Amino acid sequence: MTTEKREVHAKKGLEIECKGWEQEAVLRMLYNNLDPEVAEKPEELVVYGGIGKAARNWEAFDSIVSTLQRLENNETMLIQSGKPVAVFKTHEAAPRVLLSNSVLVPKWANWEHFHELDQQGLMMYGQMTAGSWIYIGTQGILQGTYETFASLAEKHFDKSLQGTITLTAGLGGMGGAQPLAVTMNGGVVIAVEVDPSRIEKRLQTKYLDKMTTSIDEALAWAVEAKQQGEALSIGLLGNAAEVHEDILSRNVNIDIVTDQTSAHDPLNGYIPVGYSLNESNQLRNQDPSTYVTLSSSSMARHVTAMLQFQKNGAIVFDYGNNIRQVAKDEGIEQAFDFPGFVPAYIRPLFCEGKGPFRWAALSGDPEDIYQTDRLIKELFPKNEPLIRWIDMAQKKVSFQGLPSRICWLGYGERVKMGLAINELVKNGELKAPIVIGRDHLDCGSVASPNRETESMKDGSDAVGDWAVLNALINTAAGGSWISFHHGGGVGMGYSLHAGMVAVADGTDLAKERLQRVLTTDPGMGIARHADAGYDKAKEIAKQKNIDIPMLD
Ligand code: NAD
Repeated sequence: MTTEKREVHAKKGLEIECKGWEQEAVLRMLYNNLDPEVAEKPEELVVYGGIGKAARNWEAFDSIVSTLQRLENNETMLIQSGKPVAVFKTHEAAPRVLLSNSVLVPKWANWEHFHELDQQGLMMYGQMTAGSWIYIGTQGILQGTYETFASLAEKHFDKSLQGTITLTAGLGGMGGAQPLAVTMNGGVVIAVEVDPSRIEKRLQTKYLDKMTTSIDEALAWAVEAKQQGEALSIGLLGNAAEVHEDILSRNVNIDIVTDQTSAHDPLNGYIPVGYSLNESNQLRNQDPSTYVTLSSSSMARHVTAMLQFQKNGAIVFDYGNNIRQVAKDEGIEQAFDFPGFVPAYIRPLFCEGKGPFRWAALSGDPEDIYQTDRLIKELFPKNEPLIRWIDMAQKKVSFQGLPSRICWLGYGERVKMGLAINELVKNGELKAPIVIGRDHLDCGSVASPNRETESMKDGSDAVGDWAVLNALINTAAGGSWISFHHGGGVGMGYSLHAGMVAVADGTDLAKERLQRVLTTDPGMGIARHADAGYDKAKEIAKQKNIDIPMLD
């Protein structure tokens, strides 16, 4: 097996090296996932979220690329945890690629068994959009994070975060969106991060305003900005488990606390207290089980501090990294006293089939995205938050890799936008086709009892059938690449989820496929939440004539 380190870049332009734009789209999105502007550790094929990878190893990567180059318009390639394992003749309206990542039989679905297989080269961790080739950099999570803080502001702070201080940790691929999402809502944020290079990256891409290594300086800046009613984001170098305790001892009023360290992966995603980055790398390699013991006990301290902030009056919530579960396993009985962000702020959107819809311009030309920005404003002129978001994103989001856009759209809206994009491609108003997809963190594609399906009304949190059905119906509907994963953002044993990507290449066939898949996909969200007894989902199902046999 080759251990050589490589660098690949997002492919742009109108010349294609595959036998059709659909295969070319897959190829370009794979490259894009690993572009150094996009991925967190591209030389290790790691895209984001701890060890979330795009391909098993560089040999598998090369084989995926050469297979895509020869793949016919009526063939389908199968990917098993980042390795191409077969090509079958299917038909033109079938997906070009089907992927399954990190899926283990439930009794073996734990990190220990996964690491054994990973070391033998038999598996990789697919995270969510890493192994399903639809990661678009930090923007991908920015709007969701913005929406979450906006919803929090509406619920607790008179619709704005002005005059509040948020304390969080983790400035990685996803967590790096937090500072900008808070300042876009008018607030002040201190984001604790142990790795200086991650802070640097967020400063460079303008997701973060300034940094310091001093807790006192960070607090002084934050308090001053809060008093002036100014928005400000501060990166604070340090270990969150320790820094949070220090902040508590200084008696400064913190209003909101959350966390986006990669706590879901105690071996690769969380640095234990007292260890530098180098020391933690060494310990991880030499003695993984001691590493996990130390990082888990640090997480217990981290969660204990979060609980204390809650007792002091802060709004505290888990941001989908499973840190409460690790703390609970470490004996912190009250770990689940603060809620997850989905039941607290997002579920009403899921009931409407709303979720993180995204698209990328295969031409690589930003003007193609600005055209789609104009399109979305024309299609939904009365949706003020959406229009505000598009205007803000144009000003504040720097593209990483292929230019892309994200916005939360619901049932009916996604198909409207998808078909209109296809028309623009058909009429030559865009330079090249557009890839349309979404995060797996969506309304109808995840079973994750500590996150997307936490505290479901009917207690069906751990029912995985819905995620399987999502992948199956989207395959039948003719998405371009469909994936099924285990683990994702909360780690081994804690979630099952499915991905969907479709290509708008301007053809009539693409129109038919987009019409189907952009209906089935959010439709699953409404069916799942109606089945769980949410009135809002039942109402929308009736309004939109979604055929749910036992609705009443
Ligand atoms: P990442 O691995 O790219 O970044 C994690 C960051 O945490 C790293 O920069 C690391 O240096 C830092 N870190 C680790 N231990 C630390 C410590 N003790 N103190 C301070 N900093 C520390 O991961 P990511 O893509 O940013 O995702 C972060 C977490 O959020 C993951 O668990 C992921 O699954 C979860 N997630 C949440 C959502 C959501 O919508 N809320 C979506 C996707 C992922």
